[in-house]
Amino acid sequence: MTVQPAIPILSATSILEGVNPVTIEQMPTIWQKIARGEAEVGHPEPQFLVALAQLFFTKATDGSPEIFQQGFDCQSLYQQGAWDTLQFFGADYLLSAYPNFELAKDTAVAKDGVERVIAFATDVFDDFQYELPASFYRMLLCPIERDSILESRAMAFDIRMQGVKRAYDACLHAFNVTRMLMSVQDKATRHGLLLQHGCGCDHELTNLPAAAPGSTVQYSFENQETRHKAITAYTWRMWNEYMLFPLSIQSKTLAL
Ligand SMILES: [Zn+2]
Repeated sequence: MTVQPAIPILSATSILEGVNPVTIEQMPTIWQKIARGEAEVGHPEPQFLVALAQLFFTKATDGSPEIFQQGFDCQSLYQQGAWDTLQFFGADYLLSAYPNFELAKDTAVAKDGVERVIAFATDVFDDFQYELPASFYRMLLCPIERDSILESRAMAFDIRMQGVKRAYDACLHAFNVTRMLMSVQDKATRHGLLLQHGCGCDHELTNLPAAAPGSTVQYSFENQETRHKAITAYTWRMWNEYMLFPLSIQSKTLAL
């Protein structure tokens, strides 16, 4: 009997095994630069990230049977969506895109606990660093730009969120990788906060004592392989969500 390894090792080559990936030259320019080491990114494994981007673009455009088995021809739609997605995130992994956590409070609007939100986002950054893109941390920080850090905001329809809602919502939806969600909530609860997502696509922080009196979330990844797999799955989900966002059906009446 052959025993399958529980968690296959993910690497730049293993994730492209058995697929006929697009070439680097077929990718958006920013990814060509990342692949050649010409873009200033902080990701610890840029070649893995590039391979993941290649896989994402390949699967969205090569007529993969799991996507196109019904003969539903929306390849051009996927192609444009995958292109837009990778163009956005390529720039979002640049060091210059990340927020400055120390200066964040200078531009904060809220007056009630901005320091807690920044401390929470900083804790998350200390853990995941540049393995996750800038929008991920900007999404965690954004409650400080509201009248109150506890304000719930339905991003899809709020004119103040139009430029960022697609990326922020993709980051929130990718939390269906619950290991990642628990890891982030673990850090939120250390500061008495809990991250909430409707999804309508509303987003808010709640005060932990009010939401769940006496409770905390404690979570750490079982091992490095599990952690790597969770971050990879999260990234993959985030890109998918970003790509599909324009196709999603929004209902204003469900947003609040
Ligand atoms: Zn949402």
